[in-house]
Amino acid sequence: MPIPSHLQTLLRLFAAHGERAYPVGGCVRDTLMGIPPHDWDVAVTTTPERTVSLCEGAGFRTIPTGIKHGTVTVLTPHSGDPMDRAGGYDLIECTTCRTEGCYSDGRRPDGVTFTGRISDDLSRRDFTVNAMAFDFPEDGGPPVVLDLFGGQQDMKKRLIRAVGDPDTRFGEDGLRLMRAVRFAVKLDFNLEPHTRDAVIRRAGGLARISRERISDELQKILTSPRPETGVAMLTELGLMPYVLPQGISPHGVGELSALPADFSLRMACLLWGLDEDRLRVNLAGLKLPTAVSKKIQILARPTLLPSQLTPRKAREWRHALGEQAVPALEVRLAASGEARGALSRLLELVRASEAREEPVRIGDLAIDGNDLIALGFKPGRLLQDIFCELLEVVWDCPEKNTREELLREALRRRE
Ligand code: ATP
Ligand code: MG
Repeated sequence: MPIPSHLQTLLRLFAAHGERAYPVGGCVRDTLMGIPPHDWDVAVTTTPERTVSLCEGAGFRTIPTGIKHGTVTVLTPHSGDPMDRAGGYDLIECTTCRTEGCYSDGRRPDGVTFTGRISDDLSRRDFTVNAMAFDFPEDGGPPVVLDLFGGQQDMKKRLIRAVGDPDTRFGEDGLRLMRAVRFAVKLDFNLEPHTRDAVIRRAGGLARISRERISDELQKILTSPRPETGVAMLTELGLMPYVLPQGISPHGVGELSALPADFSLRMACLLWGLDEDRLRVNLAGLKLPTAVSKKIQILARPTLLPSQLTPRKAREWRHALGEQAVPALEVRLAASGEARGALSRLLELVRASEAREEPVRIGDLAIDGNDLIALGFKPGRLLQDIFCELLEVVWDCPEKNTREELLREALRRRE
C-alpha cells in the first residue's frame, strides 16, 4: 500500500510521544479502492494544542485551522525533513478524535467533545465507506484497517450506507443528503435501500442548509464522471426542488458527460432554454461568483442560429458571443432538442474562424479612432457608424483588414 513517506514521518512522531495518529476517511476509502487519495486526513488521540506543540517541537510548521473543532493543519515537506522550506510539501489536517453533540439546527453539531478515541471519531462520520481508518502498528508492519461499520463489505457491494440509523444521521445534518448522491456518482455506487428511503423521507432537511454548501455539492456532482446519474438521483430522491427550485431545461438533462468536466458548461446544458426569469432565480440561489453566473446565462440562452451557414455568419456569431462562441455551441449540441447538423456545421466554421484569428470585433480592426479623426471624421455617432460598416467589410472579407484597405474604405464613405 503506497503510503507517502512524509505522512509516515508524521505518524511516527505521534507514536514517539505515546500518542496515536490514524489516516482516516476519504484517503482510506480511496487507497482501498486503488485510487490515489488527493489528500490525507489524520485523526489523532491528543488535543489540538498538543498536536501543535508536538509538531512545532519537531520543526513542522502548523496552521491552527479549526482549533475549536480539533483541527490543526501540518505542513509536511515531501523530503521528510521538517525544516525543508524549498521542496514541495503537503498540508495534512490532523483532527483530534471527537464525538459531536446534538444537532439542534439540522446543520452542525452544537458542540464537539474531544475523547481521543478513534471509535468515537469513526462513529460520527457519514457513510460506512468514509468511516474507516488505518492503524499503523508501532513495529512498522503493514497497517490494519479499522472498520467498525462494514465499510469494506459495502465497498465490495458498491453501496453508500449511512453509519448508524440513516434517519437520525440525515436529520442531524441535511448536507449528508447531497453527499450521499455525490459519493454514489463519484464512486459509481448505489444507495443502500434503507439509506435511500431515509434520503427520500428526509429530503426537506436540505432547506436548512446554506445555499453555498448546496451549490458546492452540486458542482461536485455535475463535474463527476456520472453527472446524468447525479441529476436523475437528485430528481428521484426529491432533492432537486431544494437545489434548483425553478427546475431544469424543458429539453431534459442533455448529454452532460459529453461536455468537459467544467461546471459552467454542464450547468448551462442542464438549464439550457429555461426561460430567463427562472434561469436567473436558479442561478441566484446558487450564490455563484458573478462572472460564473453571467457566463452560464450566456451559454444557456437559445440565441437565434443564423439562417445561412457561411463563414461570414460564423464571424458574426463570434462577434455576438465573444469568448463563449464555441462553448455556447458545444453546450447546445449536448443539450437535447435541436437538429445537430446545423449546429455541428456552425461549430466547425466558428472554430476555423478562431483558428485563423479572423477579425470580428472593432478592437480587431487594423485602424483605430485616431486614424479616422486624422481623416477628418468627427468623434461621435458617425465615427461609430463607420466602424460598424468597416466591421461588415472585414466580416465579408477578412483579408481587407489592413490599414491601407480600411482607410480607403473609410474615405469612400466620407465622400
Ligand atoms: P473527497 O475525496 O471527495 O474529498 P472525502 O471523503 O475526503 O472525499 P470530505 O468532504 O473531504 O470527503 O470529508 C472528509 C471526511 O470527513 C469524510 O470521508 C467523512 O468521513 C467526514 N465528513 C465530512 N463531512 C461530513 C458530514 N457532513 N457528516 C459526517 N461526516 C462527514
Ligand atoms: Mg476530502
